[in-house]
Amino acid sequence: MGEDAEEPKPRAFGRLHARVSAAPRELLAEVPSGPGIWTARVITLFPEAFPGTLGLSLTGKALDMHRWHLKPIALRPFGDGKHRNVDDTPAGGGAGMVLRADVLDRALTVAAEGTPDRALWPVIYLSPRGKPFDQATARRLAACQGVTLLCGRFEGVDQRVLDAHEIEEVSLGDFVLTGGEIAAQAMLDAVVRLLPGVLGNAASTEEESFSDGLLEHPQFTRPQVWEGREIPEILTSGNHAEIARWRSAQAEALTKARRPDLWEKRPKR
Ligand code: SAH
Repeated sequence: MGEDAEEPKPRAFGRLHARVSAAPRELLAEVPSGPGIWTARVITLFPEAFPGTLGLSLTGKALDMHRWHLKPIALRPFGDGKHRNVDDTPAGGGAGMVLRADVLDRALTVAAEGTPDRALWPVIYLSPRGKPFDQATARRLAACQGVTLLCGRFEGVDQRVLDAHEIEEVSLGDFVLTGGEIAAQAMLDAVVRLLPGVLGNAASTEEESFSDGLLEHPQFTRPQVWEGREIPEILTSGNHAEIARWRSAQAEALTKARRPDLWEKRPKR
């Protein structure tokens, strides 16, 4: 799943991973370009983690239909020596391991092959120190031609490679994951669902949480009465103007109560 239409069969998931002795030149040929199709290239020690949940439901169907492309790039083959070492102990001491600058540089160079400038193709390191990911960033990325994501592991990556490649850092939130893969999938999910033709009902991305700076109103569906709880009467009235008013009042009340920070920042109409 998730390979290019042009890509020869059998499909490449895990192939880079298996061919640990491949030279970077050979690996290059396996990075599809996918012109005109929004593409995510993901540098990771665990390519088998992809597409993961992105292979399910609407994002998975869209992947199968080539509405977007996903290219995991295994980090291991870029490693050093017989054992393809990718990490080493932190300079200055301390626990854990750090992903090496030279190894990451080789992977980033291959991942950059054929991509346009950063305005059209951002390069992002998933990192708890990054700018918090939000819906505006999802929209910005969806408007690009694609993105290259670097997933860290262990204690993170050598700072010099981030500086040299001018990599943007983006965080999923104020917590620490063991690796960037889950963060990359969460980010990609938020972006891919904004691409044309991915959600069945395009209107649903316009009304949902954050699209107007507010949290979404509560949702209900059948049965009409569930364990003595009724759907708010207004929603079954058929009066669409009243329903719209009720929903925006609910959205405002929820946002004020739960996210005063969003309420203060909301675009004033
Ligand atoms: N020592 C680092 C954390 C490393 S966690 C620090 O304190 O900042 C290992 C990897 O998981 C990171 O390199 C990053 O790619 C990923 N990761 C962890 N938390 C994340 C978060 N909140 N958002 C995005 N990526 C995260």
